[in-house]
Amino acid sequence: MTNTVTTSTEDRRLLAEVHRWARIQGWRAGGWRGYQNAQFEDKATVTVRPNEAGFQVWRKDADALFFTGQPTEYPTATVREAIDILVAIGILPPAFSSAYRLGRSDGAFIANVETNPDRKCAACGATSGLTLLPGNPLTGIANQWLCWGTCKAATR
Ligand SMILES: [Zn+2]
Repeated sequence: MTNTVTTSTEDRRLLAEVHRWARIQGWRAGGWRGYQNAQFEDKATVTVRPNEAGFQVWRKDADALFFTGQPTEYPTATVREAIDILVAIGILPPAFSSAYRLGRSDGAFIANVETNPDRKCAACGATSGLTLLPGNPLTGIANQWLCWGTCKAATR
């Protein structure tokens, strides 16, 4: 049910959010290893370099002057997937993950409907015995309520 395929418009919006966050956090373009989490290499502890297959990450201790050795490779198929992995490996904060956003969206929707007397089945209009069908903010599919068991609309 959860669809994490993103549109290119959504990709651009996500990337803009990530770039905004990174700039505020002090990330800078750091040469051929990509973006680093400090203005100068001696103060950085991680670099992220996007490539054709996904992205690469170099790490070092804060007191090491230079990044050395081979990067860790993270193959990804989509921008959404890359961002979820960057969250999973602790580079981006959880608020960027699709799981966090789905949860927040569902929470806001449930809070809204529970104070809304107009809650009803999206197919038949029944107002009791409903279940929440989660949508996906990444694809623009909205949350909706449907009959939990047999919907009257299905027998027409
Ligand atoms: Zn129904």
